[in-house]
Amino acid sequence: TDKNRYLFSTPDWNKLNGTLLPAIIQDAKTKNVLMLGYMNEESLEKTQETGKVTFFSRSKQRLWTKGEESGNFLNVVDIKNDCDQDSLLITVDPVGPTCHTGSDTCWNEKNETNFGFFSELESTIAQRQEEANIAPDFRQGIKQSYVVSLFDKGINKIAQKVGEEAVETVIEAMDNNDELFLYESADLLFHYLILLKAKGFTLKDIEAELMKRKK
Ligand code: AMP
Ligand code: ZN
Ligand code: ZN
Ligand code: ZN
Repeated sequence: TDKNRYLFSTPDWNKLNGTLLPAIIQDAKTKNVLMLGYMNEESLEKTQETGKVTFFSRSKQRLWTKGEESGNFLNVVDIKNDCDQDSLLITVDPVGPTCHTGSDTCWNEKNETNFGFFSELESTIAQRQEEANIAPDFRQGIKQSYVVSLFDKGINKIAQKVGEEAVETVIEAMDNNDELFLYESADLLFHYLILLKAKGFTLKDIEAELMKRKK
């Protein structure tokens, strides 16, 4: 068996002095943290040998291969030591939900891709769409919003706006002004997100479509 499989330095077992090694389990694709478990030397070796995350269970007081009963194994993608060799970050490809409650993560979260700032922007746009659903007479207290006004004008107008921003982006792509190109690209992406929402879709739907095409 290859002891260096995945892990190219050893945890500092002396420093741990008999205490267990914490292992943070992260989904390799979505980057969500799935669970936290503890390892001893033997469980780490078994993890490296089998490619399936195996902890030392504090409640069972024995080696515990996650998924041994449920089949919800954590297939190892990579293992990293932290800066001072006393905790592991294990990236995995999980089979099924990780938590025994049936939840994707042990913190009751869905294990889906998060697009960072773009996801925040999507939420804001969704909120504006809801505001646009309120009849204008009942909008006291809601501040004027460009995005609300776009939703008010309807899908054709939003689509047209995307077309305009696309043309502007193309024009700026053809000269040498990088600043204007970035500016128009941001406009395009922003309006495209609004169109996507107006059509009832999200970036996740686009991701799924693109992933279908991946060879
Ligand atoms: P499994 O390893 O998925 O076959 O589950 C076997 C048992 O381990 C379950 O019945 C729970 O007691 C426990 N267990 C499973 N998953 C978790 C988890 N993510 N965190 C803590 N305990 C778990
Ligand atoms: Zn550390
Ligand atoms: Zn759990
Ligand atoms: Zn523009």
